[in-house]
Amino acid sequence: MKITDFKIPTRLDEALALLRVLGPAGLPVAGATSLVFIPEDEPKTAVDLNRIGLDGIRRDNGTFRIGATTRVAALQKHAAPGWVLNRVAQMLASQQIRNESTLGGNICRVFPWADFPAALLALGAVMVLQGETTREVPADEFFSAQPARLFRSGELLTQVCVPALSPGLGFGYRKVRQTATGFSMLTAAALLQLDGATIRSVRAAMSGGVPFPARCPGVEGALAGKKASEGLLREAALNGLAGLKFKEAEGMSTAYIGRLAGVTLGDVLVEAWTQAKEQAS
Ligand SMILES: Cc1cc2nc3c(=O)[nH]c(=O)nc-3n(C[C@H](O)[C@H](O)[C@H](O)COP(=O)(O)OP(=O)(O)OC[C@H]3O[C@@H](n4cnc5c(N)ncnc54)[C@H](O)[C@@H]3O)c2cc1C
Repeated sequence: MKITDFKIPTRLDEALALLRVLGPAGLPVAGATSLVFIPEDEPKTAVDLNRIGLDGIRRDNGTFRIGATTRVAALQKHAAPGWVLNRVAQMLASQQIRNESTLGGNICRVFPWADFPAALLALGAVMVLQGETTREVPADEFFSAQPARLFRSGELLTQVCVPALSPGLGFGYRKVRQTATGFSMLTAAALLQLDGATIRSVRAAMSGGVPFPARCPGVEGALAGKKASEGLLREAALNGLAGLKFKEAEGMSTAYIGRLAGVTLGDVLVEAWTQAKEQAS
């Protein structure tokens, strides 16, 4: 990435106006850790988002509202009832990278190894985009293709909204990697809602060993309305991924990743079920 100029706005409206004027020559920059991965030679003017008030986590009834420039390290440290993103944050690369990377930067341009998209798909997060107007984009739409397509000239992601886990809800998350700071071979996440012993709903998602982060509708459909048991959850994970395409990852074959996906998603569903039972009692 060729940065030839740097603007440091101190207000959101100033940043939006700069990006509108710059058009394709402008590049919003938060932690800037992705620039090393972007092989573009077109000169860009970076617009620094770090001083425009988009940092922080606040609870608004049953929702956590997370500012787009909140560091992954801050998500990792945050502790509050119903908060689960610390479990995702702690798995992202190394502490140095968590100190710089922002939640917004991790999801506005999705790299194959990005850790947050699967978790936000499972949690049913909502992304808030601000330009001349404000609009909310649900995770399913946001991650249906590369999110950069959604940012009209001068638009920014300002907030990510995730539900706080309430009684009966459980979250599971696994990132399988070869080394402690390695890229994901397969990441799986699930949000499971119990109604007594019955599964009311499941949202399950994957990234890493699939071409782009995706929900797992075959697994979700096989579980909704059924009496929960470990056997049922593991069987659904192994048999319900038929519609998903897998790809080689970190030197592992497609067949290996497919098998890893079924086993890992089974673990994730059991973890979510266990937490849902604990939350309910
Ligand atoms: C060696 C290394 C290993 C890594 N390993 C992992 C890993 O295993 N898993 C993982 O998830 N991540 C990993 N990362 C981090 C990841 O690749 C991204 O670099 C990082 O998440 C981007 O966050 P950032 O804040 O630095 O974003 P930036 O680099 O500042 O921005 C990323 C993209 O998003 C756009 N953008 C940023 N904020 C906004 C906004 N608010 N609105 C609109 N557009 C915006 C930018 O224009 C840019 O295109 C690694 C990084 C490095 C350097």
